[in-house]
Amino acid sequence: MSPLAVTAYIALGANLGNARVTVLQAMQSIATLRATYCVHCSSLYSTAPIDATGPDYINAVVEVITGLNPQDLLFELQQLEQTAGRQRPYRNAPRTLDLDILLYGDACLQSTTLVIPHPRMRTRAFVLLPLAEIAPAKVSINDLQAVSDQRITRLNTD
Ligand code: AMP
Repeated sequence: MSPLAVTAYIALGANLGNARVTVLQAMQSIATLRATYCVHCSSLYSTAPIDATGPDYINAVVEVITGLNPQDLLFELQQLEQTAGRQRPYRNAPRTLDLDILLYGDACLQSTTLVIPHPRMRTRAFVLLPLAEIAPAKVSINDLQAVSDQRITRLNTD
């Protein structure tokens, strides 16, 4: 592992096709990205769509240690989205796979293609609950209370 490796958190979501299988496969694919090691995978969660219609989502969060810089990590994740058949017919359309970088070390980035920390991560139960499961120090009680009205169920993966 590169001495410049950074801990990053990636959110996974899907609500088209076999979303559960897609998210599990994406977790495996992330773990095999170059210069990247997967430290923790959250449980899978079933969640109601937010600002959108369509089937419920399957969501999860993974923690990785990566030697990729943020733009290269985003590129690799977008490749995985494409491989899963991701299309963007309109904003918040149902999706075969959505991968977002939530946190990248302590970085604060704002470019045309990448904003870190992810700007909506604190308003989404489908991010905060799986993140709290694997990295409780990254989520506050106030964060969780603010999204307590959003429907989310942790799935039993046995
Ligand atoms: P989406 O349609 O939700 O997959 O949004 C993808 C777009 O968001 C891409 O064009 C990215 O360049 C941009 N984006 C900005 N910040 C992030 C981030 N932290 N993680 C993933 N995509 C991001």
